Amino acid sequence: MNLVFLGPPGAGKGSQAALVCEKYSIPHISTGNMLRAAIAQKTSMGLAAKKNIDAGNLVPDDVVIEIVKQRLAEDDCKNGYLLDGFPRTIAQAQKLDEFATLDLVILVDVDDKSIIKRLSRRRTCVDCSSTYDISKVPEDACHSCGGRLVRRTDDSKETIKNRLNVYHELTSPLVTYYKDSGRLCKVDGKATIEVVFSAVSEVLDTI
Ligand code: AMP
Repeated sequence: MNLVFLGPPGAGKGSQAALVCEKYSIPHISTGNMLRAAIAQKTSMGLAAKKNIDAGNLVPDDVVIEIVKQRLAEDDCKNGYLLDGFPRTIAQAQKLDEFATLDLVILVDVDDKSIIKRLSRRRTCVDCSSTYDISKVPEDACHSCGGRLVRRTDDSKETIKNRLNVYHELTSPLVTYYKDSGRLCKVDGKATIEVVFSAVSEVLDTI
């Protein structure tokens, strides 16, 4: 199963991806997580990407395409994978079609107002990237691994607005791109994690 999760920032792609990958034993490939790991390791690519990420802008296509191409060539991707946060532009999607064959693209649909509310309350584990709503999990440690919970630098109010603008301008055209090629499926991402996951599982059971 070669899958893509598409949707605005904060739609819950990462949380759903973790559940799907555990259920189907496929790797969760998040370009955001890979870029943040590169920043933490202070690689030259990470340091160059940091400015874009902190401002809520996209990292250049050629950089992310190369990261994904290399990652998909690894052994654990042979029986499938889930891409979370890639592709984010038409150019990325076209390149991906040159080196991968996708079975399904799942659009996790959430309106802007809910996204702004969710992201401004979001806290993320520095170690395993699990996310929490701060109003529900007020302690400072991750329930999964005990890691420190922080507010991502790009989860500030102004940056959230820019990320949403970038999504509408550059990423949302992918909905038509994948719909036209018969690969798109949409789930309502506004419900609870459990309800969204059961909708996602239903969709996946059909392929
Ligand atoms: P995410 O964790 O998916 O929300 O990604 C965080 C940030 O990483 C984005 O706001 C972008 O700056 C960068 N990023 C992640 N994936 C991509 C991508 N496919 N193309 C360009 N930039 C990306």
